[in-house]
Amino acid sequence: MQGAMGEKSEYSENVPSDLEFLGGDFTVLNASSLAQADAGDGPGLRVLKEVLLAILRCPGFVFSVQPQEEYTRVREKTGGKWREVMRFPATLHREFGEEVSRLFLKCNFHHYSLPQDGVVLLALGDGKWYDLFVSTVTGIHGPIFDFTFARREISFDLDLDKLGFDASGLAALKKAVDAPAGMVLVTGPTHSGKSIVCYSAVMRRLLRGDSVTTIEAPRKFRLPGARQIQLGYGGNYENFYANALADDPRVLLVQEIRYYEPIVGALASARERLVVAGIHAGEVILCLIRLQRFAGDEKFPQSEQKRIRQDRELLAESLSLVCSGRVLNLLCPGCRQPGTVPAATIRRSGLAVAGEGDVPVFSPGPGCEACRGTGIAGCRGIYEVLPISRDMRRLLAGPVPECAIIRQAREEGLLSLREMALRLALDGAIGFQHAIAATSPPFPDDLNH
Ligand SMILES: [Zn+2]
Repeated sequence: MQGAMGEKSEYSENVPSDLEFLGGDFTVLNASSLAQADAGDGPGLRVLKEVLLAILRCPGFVFSVQPQEEYTRVREKTGGKWREVMRFPATLHREFGEEVSRLFLKCNFHHYSLPQDGVVLLALGDGKWYDLFVSTVTGIHGPIFDFTFARREISFDLDLDKLGFDASGLAALKKAVDAPAGMVLVTGPTHSGKSIVCYSAVMRRLLRGDSVTTIEAPRKFRLPGARQIQLGYGGNYENFYANALADDPRVLLVQEIRYYEPIVGALASARERLVVAGIHAGEVILCLIRLQRFAGDEKFPQSEQKRIRQDRELLAESLSLVCSGRVLNLLCPGCRQPGTVPAATIRRSGLAVAGEGDVPVFSPGPGCEACRGTGIAGCRGIYEVLPISRDMRRLLAGPVPECAIIRQAREEGLLSLREMALRLALDGAIGFQHAIAATSPPFPDDLNH
């Protein structure tokens, strides 16, 4: 599996010429032409070219262009943090906006009072194509522009079969995705491959001709034929649900749920359709515990108890499957470095291995010709998948201690990401330290309070 979006590579003069497969009415931006100043370029276009070049040189995929009082800031989001890339005088922001609207939105600058979004195709020198999405809303000092890159070839290749699920996990996931209703929840931190699982699940239904609507923030991939709605700044989920559900889609993708209310809204709409949602909530067991806690508990005031009961029942009724993944770097077999770890350390870390003494493991090598000096030979996804059983539904509906949920998940054979990663480390496929760093320790079975 490739990284969630692949690498953004250097731009150069050499741009592919075959546009036939693209279809649609898109502006095509050629990265090398951005570097050439044209005598006819107005100040707005010059700034836009500078901004696009600056963000092309950055490693990230998400950018925001925000006007302030005296200057406009261009910021990049990498590793969950924002960092300033460049700034330009506020006096140029209006012209910049006009060029963005001409190029991306194909509309008049004056129609900015509502959130809008658009896309251009970006051709880079190595033959790769990107969708460069922009979405805009009005801020206090003028329109704010958010840019997101997405590798176009991945948009055309979103397939659950290619993500690295094991056979039983894949079968359970497909069953839940093919069901007429219910919620499939994909949980995990940033860069855990959450989006690609969500989009691949939705693509499966899209290819069968089902109607699909999405609520995205930011948009990650193009889904041909889907109604893709971007949730802009200050976006209110209630309004977006109303809009998204207006044409009664068979499938709704909610790309990222962060708060409690959107979960209730998504669960409610999952009574009548498949809802695929991403959530930033740790691994499968932790996610279930958090969902149950989200609703509230018996310590809440009496006036809240009825709602809490209803929300829990809704959760138990609608949730059909929870899955969580990680993208792990594979060691280059040509240069990986052998080492050992005491068996007791591996047991403490979460994998039951027999015996005492040292167990052979590996760490990344210094790099060789085969891995082009990186020590890494690609990456793969690992996934824990838990279809929600009748017994688990009963637990989610009632006020039960956390340990009951943990025990039930274990009894149903849920293998934690930590266990899976450690097994790969013992096989020499990934580094031992990487297995520990990329996953959380498993919950103790005797957790109780
Ligand atoms: Zn190597």
